[in-house]
Amino acid sequence: MNKQYKSYKNLIAGKLCEAIDKEQIEVICPSDGEVFAYIPKSSTRDIDLAVKAARHAYDKGEWGKMSAMERGRILLKFSILIEKHKSELAMLESRDTGKILSQAEADITALARYFEFYAGAADKIYGNTIPIKGNFLTLTLREPHGVVGGIIPWNYPAQIFGRVVGAALAMGNSVVIKPAEDACLSVLRLGELAVSAGLPAGALNIVSGTGEEAGSALTKHSQVDFFSFTGSPITGSLVQQAAALNQRGVTLELGGKSAQIIFADADLEKALPVIINAIIQNSGQTCSAGSRVLIEQSIYAEFSKKLAEKFAKLKAGPHDANLDLGPLISKKQLNIVKNFISQAEKENIELLAKGEIIDNAPEKGNYIAPALYGNVPPNSDLAQKEIFGPILCAFPFRDEEHAIRLANNSEFGLVGAVWTSDGARQMRMAKAIRAGQVYINSYGAGGGIELPFGGFKKSGHGREKGIEGLYEMSTTKTIIINHEN
Ligand code: NAD
Repeated sequence: MNKQYKSYKNLIAGKLCEAIDKEQIEVICPSDGEVFAYIPKSSTRDIDLAVKAARHAYDKGEWGKMSAMERGRILLKFSILIEKHKSELAMLESRDTGKILSQAEADITALARYFEFYAGAADKIYGNTIPIKGNFLTLTLREPHGVVGGIIPWNYPAQIFGRVVGAALAMGNSVVIKPAEDACLSVLRLGELAVSAGLPAGALNIVSGTGEEAGSALTKHSQVDFFSFTGSPITGSLVQQAAALNQRGVTLELGGKSAQIIFADADLEKALPVIINAIIQNSGQTCSAGSRVLIEQSIYAEFSKKLAEKFAKLKAGPHDANLDLGPLISKKQLNIVKNFISQAEKENIELLAKGEIIDNAPEKGNYIAPALYGNVPPNSDLAQKEIFGPILCAFPFRDEEHAIRLANNSEFGLVGAVWTSDGARQMRMAKAIRAGQVYINSYGAGGGIELPFGGFKKSGHGREKGIEGLYEMSTTKTIIINHEN
């Protein structure tokens, strides 16, 4: 191990600590392939300690006794502290994930906003009274689950930390987070800041390590009451199966193959940059990436030509080079995307345009040029699989009914977009698309902190973000009072 690089630490019971076995994982910068930090490679024993700390904080500690108002105040302090450390956190996130700095800055802004939003909401979640016959008064209370286990991926570590931890803590749960081994420095740094914000010991615990060892140990732990998982559908199934062994609930935020549908009556100039950004953001490694563009037949040639012209000018390079795209997270992800490209070549799928990788990009970086494919066969892998790279598939469609059929011809259902100036069509399409969020004449909403988010079909179940995120992090208790004399 090279001592010149920082070794990040777990946060367990309010203390920063190494893994019990002192094992570490090298952190590699996606832009140049060089090691620049270390994170703990935690084992089942570390996870067990973290769960016990969370259990104690919830059952017997200061955290479990705290009022909702006090919890909100601490979360607000945390949000302010994040804002203060914004540029440090953004640079760390950018170097760790390879995402361009402006994207990392937007992510940290969203992270701070999650804690601000949930700080304000903490003491505004009420139960109900329910009228029933006779001498009964019935009340419902919204109670925290207890200990929440959160497993998050590498593509938006800080933002996803914000939406899971913000909601879970606001509702009064204690939390154990297992971030992704490929990128989690911002999350480990946030552990340090949470202590400074005054979060009581054990309320938040962060344990890094591999999915197979630390992640799996968390999902099998009988003392965890509820899970929030964000990641791939395959791992999502494993998490759900493990949770089922202890009859625990899970929210699953999984993948997507989202469609952006553009009608001839849309404002094409306005749509063009938004459609491109929806696929190149984070180099296409976004669950809600708009990876399919459905274009009305009458404008297919004209609009795909315009898209191609813009695509050809896109540039990929290091995260801090102020370009359109950074590198992909890892060699593994690079190979996955390259395989899709080779397969598209073999199937003679029409390549409409390709961007470029800048000349002086470091050789060991994980760079891929963004690409636009046209007339993509609707049942090909390119059209159906989640590529998680900057690859956009274009398809022509005849009419509304055809557009809906193509849009819903996917095992996923996370996000969709409709571009049209016809108000009635906007609503018809929005209702017909099987996805958790549908945008009209736009795509994305600056993180969408206030907006319920989640999938249909293989994109998962449960909702995070917004007030619905708080409901997911809680459960209902019904109290029935007999007030008969
Ligand atoms: P992944 O499933 O490989 O890993 C996600 C997390 O699960 C990581 O922390 C990993 O260590 C952990 N993990 C791996 N194996 C595990 C196991 N057996 N038990 C418990 N935990 C385990 O996913 P990824 O490659 O890191 O992320 C990419 C995927 O995540 C894509 O499919 C993407 O669409 C999805 N994603 C979805 C959303 C959303 O909100 N819907 C957001 C971001 C990413």
